[in-house]
Amino acid sequence: MSYLDNILFAILLIVGFGFFAASVKKIIRNINLGVDVNRKDNSKARWKNMALIALGQSKMVRRPVAGILHIFVYVGFIIINIELLEIIIDGLFGTHRIFAPYLGVVYDVLIASFEILAILVIFAVTVFWIRRNFIRLKRFIHSDLKGFPKSDANYILYFETVLMILFLLMNASDLHLQSVPGGVFHKAGSFPISQFIAPIFNGMSNELVMLLFEVFWWLHIVGILIFMNYLYFSKHLHILLAFPNTYFANLNPEGQFDNLESVTKEVKLMMDPNADPFAAAPADENAAPSKFGASDVQDLNWVQLLNAYTCTECGRCTSACPANQTGKKLSPRKIMMDTRDRLQEVGKNIDANKGVFVPDNKTLLNDYITPEELWACTSCNACVEECPVNISPLSIIMDMRRYLVMEQSAAPMSLNAMMTNIENNGAPWQYSQQDRLNWKNEN
Ligand code: SF4
Ligand code: SF4
Repeated sequence: MSYLDNILFAILLIVGFGFFAASVKKIIRNINLGVDVNRKDNSKARWKNMALIALGQSKMVRRPVAGILHIFVYVGFIIINIELLEIIIDGLFGTHRIFAPYLGVVYDVLIASFEILAILVIFAVTVFWIRRNFIRLKRFIHSDLKGFPKSDANYILYFETVLMILFLLMNASDLHLQSVPGGVFHKAGSFPISQFIAPIFNGMSNELVMLLFEVFWWLHIVGILIFMNYLYFSKHLHILLAFPNTYFANLNPEGQFDNLESVTKEVKLMMDPNADPFAAAPADENAAPSKFGASDVQDLNWVQLLNAYTCTECGRCTSACPANQTGKKLSPRKIMMDTRDRLQEVGKNIDANKGVFVPDNKTLLNDYITPEELWACTSCNACVEECPVNISPLSIIMDMRRYLVMEQSAAPMSLNAMMTNIENNGAPWQYSQQDRLNWKNEN
C-alpha cells in the first residue's frame, strides 16, 4: 500500500466511525427522552441475565434450528471482526498481517477458525433466507413486516453473505501471493477454506492477483463500515443493544405489575372499611404523577424505549400471542416496531427544530397503536416469556391502557361498568355493599 492509500484509509475510518458515533449519540438522546426508572439494583442478577441471554443466547435455542444457526452468525460476527483490528492496523501503517509474527501458531489457528466460521455463517444465512423467502414461515410473512422491515431482513442476509465471500476471496488471493515462487507476501495464516478457492488465481500474473487482493481488501473494509452505519436504520441494532437491554430488563416476576403508589393507596382506603384515611403518608410521598400512563413515547420509561430499539422483529412474541392467534388485531411485535418508528419520528423532529420537540399533532396512541390493539391483550405475558432479548411489549400496552382509563375514561363498556361497581359497591358486581356476596348464588 502507498502512503496515499494509508491516508485514504485513515479518512475512510474517520468518516465511518464518525457517522457511527453520531448515530449512537442520537440513539442515546432518544432513549433518554423516556421517563426515569431505576434499574441499578441487583447488579449480580443483571450481569447473569446478560451473560446467559445476550452472550449465551439461552432463549434463542428454545427453537433449536433457528437458535443454533443464529449462534453461527452471532459468533461468526463477533469473532471474525477481531480480524478487523489487524485490518485497521495494516491499512493505517501499510503492513501485511501484522499480528502473524507475534502470535505464531496461534495466528494460524485464529485465521483457520475465522474461515470455518465464515463458511458456517454463509450456510446459516442461506438457511435463514430460505426460511424467510421460500418456506415463508408465518411470522416472517405477517402483515407487520411489509415494506422496509421485510427488505431490511433480506438486506442484512445479503450483506453478511457478501462480507463473508469477500473475506474468503481476500484470503484466497493472499494465499496465492504467499505461494507463488519467491512469495509476494510472507507466509502467514492457515486457510482451510480459501485454499480451495485460491486455484482460481492460477495462471494470472502476480500484478493482477495483487490488484484483485486489494479490491477484495478494500471492499471488505468498506462493506464493514457501511454495515456498521446501516445498523442505525435496521433491526440489526440488536447485535449491540441486546447486551444493555438484557442487563436493564425487569427482574420482577412476570405477573407483577408496577402499580402506582398513589392509586394503590386510594383503592386500599376504598376497599378497606377499617382503614384510617388520616394515617396516609405525607402528601408528597405518594403524590399523583402529572399524567397517568402513556400516550406518546416521552411518557414511556427509558427501558421501554431501549426495548424498542433492541427489538429484532423476529416475531416470536406475535406467534405466541393468544390474541393474535385468535385473529385479534394485536401483534406485540408491531407494538415494539411502532414505538421505535414513533421514537425515530420524535427524534427527527428534535433534530429539525434545534434540539426542541415541536408538537406535531401526532401521538403513539391512535396514530400508531389503536385502542383496539391495546384492549385485545389478555396480559398473559407469553410475549415477554418468548422474547429472546427480554423485551416486554406488555409493559407498553399496560401503560397505554392506563392512559386510556385514567386520563380519558376510555375503557371498553364492560370494564367501565366493572370499575363503576367497584367504586360504588366495593365489588365488581351490581349489588349493594351488603349484598356483595350474592354473586355466588347466581348460576
Ligand atoms: S401479554 Fe398481551 S400482547 Fe403479550 S402475548 Fe399475551 S395477549 Fe399477546
Ligand atoms: S419483542 Fe422480542 S420476540 Fe417480539 S419481535 Fe421483538 S425481539 Fe422478537
